[in-house]
Amino acid sequence: MQIDQKIHALKLPFYVTSPSGMVLERFVYVYLIYGTEICLIDSGIASSAEEIFDYVRRTDRKVGDISLIVQTHSHPDHIGATRIIKAETGCAVAVHSSEKEWIEDVERQNRERPVPGFHSLVAGPVGVNRVIEDGEIIDLGCGLKLQVIHTPGHSRGSVSLLLSGYNVLFSGDAVPVPGDLPIYEDVAASVTSLKRLKGIPGLRQLLASWDEPRKGTQAYERLDEGLRYLQRVHDSVLGIAENNPSIDEMELCGKVLEDIGIPPIAANQLVARSLSSHLSLREKKEII
Ligand SMILES: [Zn+2]
Repeated sequence: MQIDQKIHALKLPFYVTSPSGMVLERFVYVYLIYGTEICLIDSGIASSAEEIFDYVRRTDRKVGDISLIVQTHSHPDHIGATRIIKAETGCAVAVHSSEKEWIEDVERQNRERPVPGFHSLVAGPVGVNRVIEDGEIIDLGCGLKLQVIHTPGHSRGSVSLLLSGYNVLFSGDAVPVPGDLPIYEDVAASVTSLKRLKGIPGLRQLLASWDEPRKGTQAYERLDEGLRYLQRVHDSVLGIAENNPSIDEMELCGKVLEDIGIPPIAANQLVARSLSSHLSLREKKEII
């Protein structure tokens, strides 16, 4: 799907199986910026490589034009095809310093943050060519410049990328989607990151990995909805923890999910970890 003359969005569906055996249908958006060369924002899962290559060919470009993959972070559905694409095109790979190890040593990532079906999602480890930090500008040529905005919370090294001049923001998984599983490492950092993104003037598009593209005022509404969702989860966690002082992590997880309208069978360690970051803010009723 063409977002504008130089930006394309590719929606890639995939499936994950939860520990309870429930098959969850997911999707991830990958974005392509067409200049003289092509810059990819994330690479999807392992099997996405062929879909990306097909799309590039269908739009009258060459696979070899892909010269850079900028990773919003290192989770499996964002780095899955990076190894294959780099091997095919020789492209460079850029990622925030805090995510580098989990791309270069994917087995370590799987040990430290196990995800069901990890090895079917990730093609393998890949060497990072460029470490990016907050405020850095990635020059894509043809006047296309990506500004790196460090937006931790979902993960330590999550970045959002602002295409300067176009006012298009690629937000990776930084903006929580109401009704989706809450997945972040540090809710307080997420709140700070969302407020920072809200402060960007004149946004024309919000292009997230796990949400549909949002234009203009809808982009800002989405950021507000993300913040309100974090507060909703916070209220739920504190209420349930207060009424059940000896509740264990997974039990809390199931009850909170039920309370916020998500089937408790979807409870897993990643969600439990997100919710525990609310407990460290238990003295604070208002977090947004
Ligand atoms: Zn993620």
